Amino acid sequence: MQAEIIAVGSELLTPARLDTNSLWLTQQLNELGIELVMKMVVGDERERLAAAVRAALERTPLLLVSGGLGPTEDDVTREAVAQALGRPLVFVPELLEASERRFRSAHRVMAEINRRQAFLIEGAEALPNEVGTAPGQWIRQGERAVVLLPGPPGELKPMFSRHVLPRLAPLVPPLVIRTRVYRVTGLAESDLDQRISPVYKRYANPATTVLAAPGDIQVHLRARCSSQQEAEALLEELGGQIEALLGDRIYSRGEPMEKVVGELLRARSATLAVAESCTGGLLAERITSIPGSSDYFLGGFLVYNDRTKIALAGVPGELLERHGAVSEPVACALAEGACRRTGATYALAVTGVAGPGGGSRTAPVGTVYIAVAGPEGVEARCFRFLGDRERVRGFAAQTALDALRRRLLVSSRAPAAAPPQPR
Ligand code: ATP
Ligand code: MG
Repeated sequence: MQAEIIAVGSELLTPARLDTNSLWLTQQLNELGIELVMKMVVGDERERLAAAVRAALERTPLLLVSGGLGPTEDDVTREAVAQALGRPLVFVPELLEASERRFRSAHRVMAEINRRQAFLIEGAEALPNEVGTAPGQWIRQGERAVVLLPGPPGELKPMFSRHVLPRLAPLVPPLVIRTRVYRVTGLAESDLDQRISPVYKRYANPATTVLAAPGDIQVHLRARCSSQQEAEALLEELGGQIEALLGDRIYSRGEPMEKVVGELLRARSATLAVAESCTGGLLAERITSIPGSSDYFLGGFLVYNDRTKIALAGVPGELLERHGAVSEPVACALAEGACRRTGATYALAVTGVAGPGGGSRTAPVGTVYIAVAGPEGVEARCFRFLGDRERVRGFAAQTALDALRRRLLVSSRAPAAAPPQPR
């Protein structure tokens, strides 16, 4: 079954207020196996809202409307939906009494405008609001269903769970949704899509979505079936082909890169240190964001200029003079120095030009050298990342972690010997 959501409220059309109700509702619908196919935000305007409701019901069997059920003049949902369905609003004395009782129990007098909340669309069932005053409404129109919910999230959620879910569940054939995520790095989004789209386009189910962030692309597979086995089998069938096409560019099934690298280090009883220039601590920040990283991460050096590269990481001054700080020999010397001075099994070093200034002919903005040092030796690679400072730094940190991941995968699969003692 498919559904649409309309969030009503002029404030939701401004930068001041975000429509979070639809996100929560989508999660609830998905768990029932109902797919959200479209959502809209409409201001507090009766004609526009009526048109949106009419259009939604022409194409989709289930519509949830949130907001605009209150007592004030700008709460137009009741009128608009009545108009769209071509049904009158009817006064329900019991709703008014319930509302008056609520006010009385709070020792308050009900304002006259609250009468508006005692009107239901003809044929609708009132959905009790245990937290606020405006009742919701459940309306069937042939095979279709419309649900009106109050805007405040604290009222919408309990009303949905208590009164809408039980009405919705019988309408939905049992549907299981299973998902699988692949996280990929070291490929541009367009290259990735070129590789895998011929395969995933052959499948409407599972549906495939590609989400890209700098240096980190997520491929989401979503299978909808009547049984869990069927959904898992479909994920396995399509997922297997994607895995074959992307190989070790896939770094995880959802875990962040720093977690993956941490697990590889732990499995090898290896330790890590870093020497960072242009990432300014980003690398260390990511590594230490993982609980338990003290088991393998020893620390590092923030070597933002030549003096600290020499003093902290032991880079020979002569190397800096001859090649410049952004160079392969200096990247290697940084990584080796970090290993040597901390006693870590492995070290990562990053030196580059994040921009926007500081670029040169030989090292334009975006040039970053990344080195990995370890028992197998030291190796540096040069990268040219595109984008602003933030992006270059993000790419650099991600690529450095990936370089270590690749090194750990190909080298010593067996646990390394005990790390050397610090000097
Ligand atoms: P009330 O009786 O409080 O007027 P209502 O059903 O008329 O309820 P609205 O007036 O549309 O609801 O919204 C009331 C408040 O609920 C808004 O100020 C906002 O804080 C919150 N709200 C409304 N819609 C949403 C939404 N889609 N996502 C998140 N919050 C919302
Ligand atoms: Mg309101």
